[in-house]
Amino acid sequence: MAMRTVGFACTSAEDTLNPFHFDRRNPRPNDVVMEILYCGVCHSDLHWVRNDWGHTPYPAIPGHEIIGRVIETGPDVTRHKIGDIVAVGCMVDSCQNCDQCRKGEEQYCREGQKHPIGMNGVYGGIDVVDNTPNMGGYSKHLVVRQEFALKVPKGLDISKAAPLLCAGITTWSPLRTCQVGPGTRVAVIGLGGLGQMAVKLAVALGAEVTVISRSDKKEQDALAIGADKLLTSSNDKAMQAAVNSFDLIIDTIPVEHDITPYLPLLDVDGTFSMVGQIGPLPTTTTLPLVYGRRRITGSLVGGIRETQELLNFCARKNILPDTKTVAMQDINDVFKELEKGDTHYRFVIDMSTLKAD
Ligand code: NDP
Repeated sequence: MAMRTVGFACTSAEDTLNPFHFDRRNPRPNDVVMEILYCGVCHSDLHWVRNDWGHTPYPAIPGHEIIGRVIETGPDVTRHKIGDIVAVGCMVDSCQNCDQCRKGEEQYCREGQKHPIGMNGVYGGIDVVDNTPNMGGYSKHLVVRQEFALKVPKGLDISKAAPLLCAGITTWSPLRTCQVGPGTRVAVIGLGGLGQMAVKLAVALGAEVTVISRSDKKEQDALAIGADKLLTSSNDKAMQAAVNSFDLIIDTIPVEHDITPYLPLLDVDGTFSMVGQIGPLPTTTTLPLVYGRRRITGSLVGGIRETQELLNFCARKNILPDTKTVAMQDINDVFKELEKGDTHYRFVIDMSTLKAD
């Protein structure tokens, strides 16, 4: 028999999120059942409920920054036991067999790439056994195969750590791929949920960090989390003065936008890593790419091994996102706030506010 639980779902792109009763699968031998304690609110959740990517099946339950407690384990589970605090991010399955999975890059699994969001997502993915759409973490319980439940190191404040599962790993992965370390000049475009993590992690790796923001409103926030300075993208003179000054730019802007003004800010051989907007961009020119051997790249979350590395790193260095804890029933107001893009912190839902009945 399946397990009856409750979440917050919407039934169309125009709908608000409301309580929704549904079934989680009965645990398979390799599954853990989690009671969800905290779930972060990512801008992707907003894209998903609004059908911005054009393939949301309804009813839709978002949520992919999940911390919970194991309450049941299947007979083959060896990695976790009842009572453990575990974390689940954007992925809940992969083939475990292809070249990408064997490298620990399950987010680029050859089977996962057949799913609409490029991996078998906690939402946006399809259960490989019963062929039903996966439902995300704005819910009381989650059933997941043990390989996709990460260990939350002791010492990490679980009321704040959930955003590491997406905002954290999505920015950690390009920082590591580009071998950011002492002296690397990193710029982060957009000081929101992902942006603040990019800043904190780059600072912790020893980089010189600049925030590029639409205005100077977030300057104090940027400096407070360790950035060296804030550059205002609407200030042409300041943008001109910053030409050739970065080795890596991480772009977290969530909407279609022109990247042309940002590319010349890279030094020769610099990398422009797009982690925000997933979809079309306006036409740009190859000139800055050709004239400076600059490159544009994208990046999708990170692998399981890399995510565990991040959790361990954050526990060791005491790095946590700036968060604001909210109640489940306030989610529709939270989405309105997120849409404005005025906050640099991450909203985290205290799931004890979602009652089971
Ligand atoms: P937030 O809304 O928290 O932050 C985005 C920031 O971008 C804002 O704070 C703002 O910063 C800036 N911004 C917002 N609107 C605009 C605009 N119209 N023009 C220019 N800048 C703007 O979003 P998240 O950080 O949660 O997510 C960012 C994006 O990353 C989303 O599109 C999300 O889907 C994507 N994402 C991608 C992942 C991946 O694997 N690649 C994984 C997770 C998320 P400021 O005020 O400083 O300008």
